[in-house]
Amino acid sequence: MTNNELIEQLYRDTTLPAAGLLQLLTSLAPEEEEHLYRRAREVREAHYGREVYLRGLVEFSSYCRNDCKYCGIRRSNGNAQRYRLTKDQIIECSDVGYRLGFRTFVLQSGEDLAFTTDDICEIVSEIRRRHPDCAVTLSIGEKTRAEYQAYYDAGAERYLLRQETSNPDHYAFLHPAELSIENRKRCLWDLKEIGYQVGCGIMVGSPRQTPENVIEDLNFMKELEPQMIGIGPFIHHKDTPFRDESDGTLEDTLHLLGILRLMFPNSLLPATTALGTINPRGRELGILAGANVVMPNLSPRGVRAKYLLYDGKICTGNEAAECRRCMERRIESVGYEVVVSRGDYRA
Ligand code: SF4
Repeated sequence: MTNNELIEQLYRDTTLPAAGLLQLLTSLAPEEEEHLYRRAREVREAHYGREVYLRGLVEFSSYCRNDCKYCGIRRSNGNAQRYRLTKDQIIECSDVGYRLGFRTFVLQSGEDLAFTTDDICEIVSEIRRRHPDCAVTLSIGEKTRAEYQAYYDAGAERYLLRQETSNPDHYAFLHPAELSIENRKRCLWDLKEIGYQVGCGIMVGSPRQTPENVIEDLNFMKELEPQMIGIGPFIHHKDTPFRDESDGTLEDTLHLLGILRLMFPNSLLPATTALGTINPRGRELGILAGANVVMPNLSPRGVRAKYLLYDGKICTGNEAAECRRCMERRIESVGYEVVVSRGDYRA
């Protein structure tokens, strides 16, 4: 089959045999890319119109007990600048964000054991109390089922946990021995069963990633049926074991975004900061390839440059209000509209 026929089949059926996916992942010509993105936009507009949802990202701690090989805040990076916001500072970020029109707050950190389960629950419930029309998303790593349940009971409704790769050997290559894809998947299934809107995702072009690995990721996602899928290009960090590895590409990331939109028509797909880092218009191009979410930074300006998961990260010097306006202009420049809304998943 030709690539255009495969795109049409994917558009119609939301699935393709592995050989077809492999072909699309490895051989799209520019005019075929356009066909893919046109179909992807059609599908996202059928489900979400031209709306783009804002998530205010609060990176509240750069401490992490883990040592993922690709990550700039891994515990063995002695050059990483560590910080930890207080509970009051985190809650204050949500107040600032609310005034700017954010209706979802994403609380993200390394796996920092200084925050107890009670601490996280207090923060979540206080934000929900102050802003009952907002959603709180957590992105704080692998926890026990009981901890996930406690956060949920405190008012967290969404959880982001990228698996980064679904293949056990590739996972073992990217991570330290104490982490396993089995536990990662266990976490994702627990979150799903508890009732969270769940986000998983991968790095595109991570070291030793093969197209077959990506197909395995897509198959896992089909099983999990996540509400959100976050993908971004791998970008190396100078103080990690992957300092000399090549970065993922804009093209591969956009292809995968288009494919994800056709496979998961009503998913929430962010155009990530990493995409904006490898190309100045990366996020706009992401929106045009089927993405419908952006995540401007709400962390206090003084700490932003310290949450460096990879080199060259953008948006570390601006105030939240500037980021908000900048994002709005960018989205409008490609014919879409930032809306003041929780931006929930539409089943
Ligand atoms: S990727 Fe996450 S868990 Fe791994 S070292 Fe970085 S912050 Fe920690």
